[in-house]
Amino acid sequence: MNIRASLTLSAITVALSSALLASGAVAAAPLAAPLDWARGAVFYEIFVRSFADSDGDGVGDLNGLTAKLDELNDGDPATTRDLGIEALWLMPVFESPSYHGYDTVDYEHIDREYGTDADFDRLLAEAHRRGIRVIVDLVMNHSSSQHPWFIDSASGPEAKHRNWYLWREDDPGWTQPWGGTNHTWHRVYGRDTGPYYYGVFWGGMPDLNFAEPAVRAEMKRIARYWLERGVDGFRLDATRHLFADGDGERQNDRPETHVFLRELAAFVREVKPSAVLVGENWTDTPRIATYFGSDANRPGGDELPMNFNFPLAEAIVKAARSGTAEPVETVLADMARLYPVGALDAPFLTNHDQVRLATQLANDPHALRLAAAILLSLPGAPFLYYGEEVGLGNGTTEGDLAKRTPMPWDAQARGFSSGKLWQPLAPGAETANVESQRSDSSSLLAHYRTWIRLRGDVPALARGSLTQLETAQPSLLAWVRTTGTSRVLVAHNLGLEPARGGPWKLDAKAVLRLGGEGVATLTADGVQVTLPPYASAVFAVE
Ligand code: CA
Repeated sequence: MNIRASLTLSAITVALSSALLASGAVAAAPLAAPLDWARGAVFYEIFVRSFADSDGDGVGDLNGLTAKLDELNDGDPATTRDLGIEALWLMPVFESPSYHGYDTVDYEHIDREYGTDADFDRLLAEAHRRGIRVIVDLVMNHSSSQHPWFIDSASGPEAKHRNWYLWREDDPGWTQPWGGTNHTWHRVYGRDTGPYYYGVFWGGMPDLNFAEPAVRAEMKRIARYWLERGVDGFRLDATRHLFADGDGERQNDRPETHVFLRELAAFVREVKPSAVLVGENWTDTPRIATYFGSDANRPGGDELPMNFNFPLAEAIVKAARSGTAEPVETVLADMARLYPVGALDAPFLTNHDQVRLATQLANDPHALRLAAAILLSLPGAPFLYYGEEVGLGNGTTEGDLAKRTPMPWDAQARGFSSGKLWQPLAPGAETANVESQRSDSSSLLAHYRTWIRLRGDVPALARGSLTQLETAQPSLLAWVRTTGTSRVLVAHNLGLEPARGGPWKLDAKAVLRLGGEGVATLTADGVQVTLPPYASAVFAVE
C-alpha cells in the first residue's frame, strides 16, 4: 500500500492525533526526571547589551529584554506570532568592567549598565510566568583582574586570597593551548618585577585556583545563591581550562577538572535537581564526551548534564555550504559511539565567539533554511544565537564585536533603542529584521517558528533517540527519531537536485508527513522518500 501524504503544516495537530490513535499508544506519562524539561527544549542565547534597551542610553538592558519576552514566547500555545523558544541563556550579567562581561568583579550583583538586582528578579518572574526557563553564564575559570579577590591576592604572599590564584617567581614560557605565541603567565599590570600569575586568556582575566578548597567552596556558594534566587541553571564558561599543570595540552582537560565538575554537578543536583549545567568545551567529540562523565550509575552521565556540540555545529555549517550530508553523518556516528547512553546534547549553529551563520553561509537562503531545519530536528536542546532566526550577519566592527551587534527588531533599530546605539546594526538590516519578516510566511523567521512549533507538537522530534539511515545520495541526510511510543523519519536534501532515499526496512504500517516538503511512500521493500531540492521533511512512521 502506498500512502502519499499530502498534509499541510496547519494539519500537524490532526495528523498527530490520528497517528497516536492509530497506534493505540497513549500510555500514562512516566514520572518526569528533573531534567526532562530540557530534553528537546529550544534555548535562545542572548547578549543583553545588544538585545533591547529600555532607557534610551543605547545599551541593551534587563528591562528591555523583559519587554521583549512576548516575542520569544508569550506563554500561550494557541498564538503563533512568537518564536516559541523555551529557555534563555543570558551571556554574563554580573558586574564587570568589560562590554562582554566575561571578566567578573562581583559574582552576586547585576552589572549596573544592565539594571538592578530587582530588575533581574522581575525578568525571572516574567520569563517563568510564560514558561521560559533562564540560565545564566557563570564564568568560574577566571575573574577580572579588578576583582577584590585578585587585588588582595596580588598584594603579597601573605594575603588572605593569595592562593585563590596561581603565582610563581618565573615565567615558564607556556603559551595558549589553542596556538599562537601569547604567554599564559603574566606580571601584575604596570610592574617590571615581581612574581607571575596564571591567566589562560589574558592578563586581565587571572585564572582562579580550583586546587584551593576555599575557591571551590565559594563557587558552590555562588551557584547556590543564584539557584535559590530562581535561575534554572548555568552555562559554564571555559570548563576545560579549570586546571593547568604544564605547557600546551596540559592547560586543557586535566583529570582534576573532571573531579571538580563532578563535585559541582552533585552539589547543584542537591540544591536544585531541575537545574542544568551546560559546559563550554570547545574541542573534538571524543573529548567532549568525557565531560558528560560516566553513565554507570547515572543515565546521561554523572558530570555535566549538557555540553555544547562544537563539532556538530561546524559540520552542519559545512554540510549546508557544501550540499553534502557526510560531515553531519560523521559527527552523529562519533556521538553514537562515544556519548554516554541518554546524554543530553546541546547542538547549535553558531555562538557569540563565531562568525555569524548568515555570513558563513553568504546569506544563501537555502543553506540558512537547511541549517535551521537540521538543528531543529536533532535530539537534545538546540541553542539559537539571537538574530540567527532573521539571518543577522556579522557587523563591520572589529573581531568579536562584529558577532554581537544590536538585535535588528526593525530596519532602523528603533525596536532596539531610542538612543544612539552602542554599536551600529550589522549590514543587511533592511531585510534581516523581525518587523519585515514577522508577517511574511516565506521568511526565515517564519521557517524557524514553524520548525520550533513542529518540535513542540511532535514528541519524537523533540525527545526521541536518533538512528541514522543509510542513503545512497550524498546530498541526503536521514534519520529516525524514536520515543517509547512514536517514531518519526527526518530527511534533509542539501542538494540542488531532487533526492531519493530508501527503501528502509522500518516495519512501518503507514507514513504521514507532519511537516516540511517531500513525499514518503511505503513499498514492499520499505519506506522511500523523495525530497525536492533544498527541502527538509518530517514523517510519522506508524
Ligand atoms: Ca539601557
